[in-house]
Amino acid sequence: MTPEGETLLLDGGRALGLDLAPHLPAFAELLRLLQEGNTRLNLTALKTERDIVLKHFIDSLSCLRGGDLGEEGLVLDLGTGAGFPSLPLAIVRPGLDLVPLDSIGKKIRFVEETAQSLGLKNVRPQVGRAETLGRQDEHRGQYDRVVARAVAALPILAELALPLLRVGGRLVAQKGPITDEELRAGQRAAGEVGGQVQAVDAFKLPLSGDARTLIVVTKTRPTPAKYPRREGIPNAQPLF
Ligand code: SAM
Repeated sequence: MTPEGETLLLDGGRALGLDLAPHLPAFAELLRLLQEGNTRLNLTALKTERDIVLKHFIDSLSCLRGGDLGEEGLVLDLGTGAGFPSLPLAIVRPGLDLVPLDSIGKKIRFVEETAQSLGLKNVRPQVGRAETLGRQDEHRGQYDRVVARAVAALPILAELALPLLRVGGRLVAQKGPITDEELRAGQRAAGEVGGQVQAVDAFKLPLSGDARTLIVVTKTRPTPAKYPRREGIPNAQPLF
């Protein structure tokens, strides 16, 4: 990582209340592996150092705003892609046990190899669809938190994530600006699958100034057995 990249990372971290100085070597290696992986696998549209530092690393870590992810516990990263937000979270929150999930095998293989290269013992990547895991005993109702960055509209996310949470657990959804209509539909969907929207935090990302919203949904009661519906239906026919 260049000195400019390091400064961006440190400044961005500071704006989020994080001291990333001890983690510079890990982020430099993650940047290198991501750029190398990108040329082989075309993993992410973001290719420059500046974009990766701001729009992957700092953006990913912004889910720590508000403290809803906590310092420990079992966290499923629904639709992790090339490992975001899981990999940056695993670096700065060693007490979290992270399960990055994606339906695309090549992305999960990259996350697995990258976690190994970085020596991250708190990352257990998983290939599969959230709808499938949501109906398996070893995953349903097992997670303390679900985090999802840029994956789906809130009503869809609620149906995919809430079955995986234990009662009392939380979904932390990282999104761009959200319309009142999506929020209302998300609130109704959350109610249907056993949850309640707890917080909506609209903010600007440090340095880039991009608009982001963190939505926290708490699971208040068990999800009815009919959810999640089968693969692809939550997306094709959102609850609300
Ligand atoms: N979270 C990553 C990020 O912020 O860079 C990736 C975002 S990408 C736009 C959405 C990812 O979610 C894709 O890799 C897709 O394969 C995955 N995905 C979408 N629906 C899914 C589902 N139902 N189960 C598992 N993965 C899913």
